[in-house]
Amino acid sequence: MEYKLLTPGPLTTTATVKQAMLTDHCTWDQEYKTITQEIRQKLLVLAGVSEQEYTTVLMQGSGSFGVEAVLSSMIKPTDHLLICANGAYGQRIVAMSERYQLNYTVYEVAENAIPLAADIAKLIEANPTITVLAMVHSETTSGILNDLTEIAQLAKEQQLLFIVDAMSSLGGIPIDVSGLEIDFLISSSNKCIQGVPGFSFVIAKRKELEQRQTFARTLSLDLYDQYKVMEKDGKWRFTSPTHTVLAFYQALIELEEEGGIHQRYVRYLTNNRLLRQKMSEIGYRPFIKEHQGPFITSFYYPKRGNFKFDHFYAFLKEHGFVIYPGKISSQECFRIGNIGEIYPEDIDRLVEVIEHYSEVAYVS
Ligand SMILES: *Cc1c(COP(=O)(O)O)cnc(C)c1O
Repeated sequence: MEYKLLTPGPLTTTATVKQAMLTDHCTWDQEYKTITQEIRQKLLVLAGVSEQEYTTVLMQGSGSFGVEAVLSSMIKPTDHLLICANGAYGQRIVAMSERYQLNYTVYEVAENAIPLAADIAKLIEANPTITVLAMVHSETTSGILNDLTEIAQLAKEQQLLFIVDAMSSLGGIPIDVSGLEIDFLISSSNKCIQGVPGFSFVIAKRKELEQRQTFARTLSLDLYDQYKVMEKDGKWRFTSPTHTVLAFYQALIELEEEGGIHQRYVRYLTNNRLLRQKMSEIGYRPFIKEHQGPFITSFYYPKRGNFKFDHFYAFLKEHGFVIYPGKISSQECFRIGNIGEIYPEDIDRLVEVIEHYSEVAYVS
């Protein structure tokens, strides 16, 4: 049964991205190492940063491994982190900080609201030892898009190291990485760049990487070590996900062919607006009222009858779509992603299926 993934990643990829994985590469192979170097280079271009100031470090594992690489190897014992958390991914940064016993303070925000620079300024005033600010850009828990601009400005004024989990946003919305002076931006292969799962990457300010090279608490996640080895000739330190790397390279080319990040953003935004409009027409209400991002939307369970997610999920899958369960802590929701190789006609068809479900399969 063929179906499309309407999830936050892994997501639906093109046939050509999947075909790119049909070659077996040796990790020592020069051609393969060159592909790694080109990927690193292309990511800098996508982020709009210079090679003098920034570098890209690829890291085996899912997105969380990239976040953990930054937290476990780039934080000095004397640092004090302020972590903004308005969802599960902000809380994951907290959990990692706890695991490494970092000195941290949590700025907790409701899941339907965004962190505010004014609140952060107060927290910094109350905790003058704070040296690092960490936040999520697109909080996939709810689909809310946090605003980086004012917070970045504050981080700059206060000379804080600025860490951004841009996992589900990089490639799908323009981010002015150097203008915002982000020191470490983390994303992964299977989100808006539309590759397959297998590695994460960090767009890092070289100066900070160099200055923080001796603080790694693990060997495998040592971001500086990985950088030093990769910088020589594109060799990853340990076995890399070779097929995923080839798929990612192809995905980057296809992003360029689509017209770059802005064009992809327009497509995602169009999908998302259409989804929310059509869902509202058939009575589904979104959890996020303000600052809804263009990637994924949380919808409340319908009020009437005894809605069962598993039943709904199975019906949609049978009709060609896979959606995601909710992740909001206090409300019953499901989530529909509109990223990946997804177009307005897919959204039209999905909403027809959901409408059909409400009419025939849904026992009220
Ligand atoms: C996907 C995602 C991650 C990483 O999750 P993994 O399951 O480790 O890939 C981290 N942060 C955000 C905001 C995400 O959307």
